[in-house]
Amino acid sequence: DQKIIEKEFGLSGSEQNPDLTGRNIKLLLQRVRSGAPGPVEAFKQRGVDFVVRDNLADLVAGMNELAPEAPLDYATVRSVVEARDREIANKYTKDLQVAAMRAARAYLPDKIARIAAPHRILDPKAGPLIAVKLHLLTRKTLGGLETDLSSRVLRSDGSVFDGLFAAGEVAGFGGGGVHGYRSLEGTFLGGCIFSGRAAGRAAAR
Ligand SMILES: Cc1cc2nc3c(=O)[nH]c(=O)nc-3n(C[C@H](O)[C@H](O)[C@H](O)COP(=O)(O)OP(=O)(O)OC[C@H]3O[C@@H](n4cnc5c(N)ncnc54)[C@H](O)[C@@H]3O)c2cc1C
Repeated sequence: DQKIIEKEFGLSGSEQNPDLTGRNIKLLLQRVRSGAPGPVEAFKQRGVDFVVRDNLADLVAGMNELAPEAPLDYATVRSVVEARDREIANKYTKDLQVAAMRAARAYLPDKIARIAAPHRILDPKAGPLIAVKLHLLTRKTLGGLETDLSSRVLRSDGSVFDGLFAAGEVAGFGGGGVHGYRSLEGTFLGGCIFSGRAAGRAAAR
């Protein structure tokens, strides 16, 4: 819903975060003020994968128009959303998502800037309701071709594969390989460029 998208919807990439990229404090403050940050709001209003409606029946109908190959059953969606909403009022909830939300808000900066205050999704004051069609893509690899420090590809027996270099994602330098399982945002390109430089220098030599 609107309250959630304002705090919790993040866009990846420097061009989608002009406040950070441009070191613009005024824009940065948008993250704590009410209303979604500019680029998020633009996606919400104009993104072809976004459905924004005032009530759940219309939202599900809109989602089904967007993805008719996998239609959702309104009654099922409604019962799931209502069950989740009931847990918001339950102080002793066992709902893991609601519990995780409350735990995350124990950290002040996240409470202020990143996690919406727990509320019922069907509360009209939190609307409109928003759905986003997901597309799967590979964002980082966790492995790849094994190389030596000159980015030369190694065979499985450890010997050098003559004349073959690998750099970037294909060599596991896109983040997952060098930075580990939960590699941080923005750390991929550095490894790609670094391993590309090593490959270029070795090839020139
Ligand atoms: C949505 C998204 C957001 C990202 N955001 C960031 C970010 O903010 N900061 C950051 O550091 N990293 C980010 N990354 C990761 C970063 O973009 C990649 O790690 C990096 O671009 C990989 O570079 P590369 O040159 O190794 O591979 P690629 O950029 O994937 O290049 C491989 C190239 O090989 C071509 N190719 C494939 N097969 C063949 C073939 N048979 N013949 C000829 N050409 C072929 C492909 O078309 C492609 O152009 C993001 C990735 C994604 C998907």
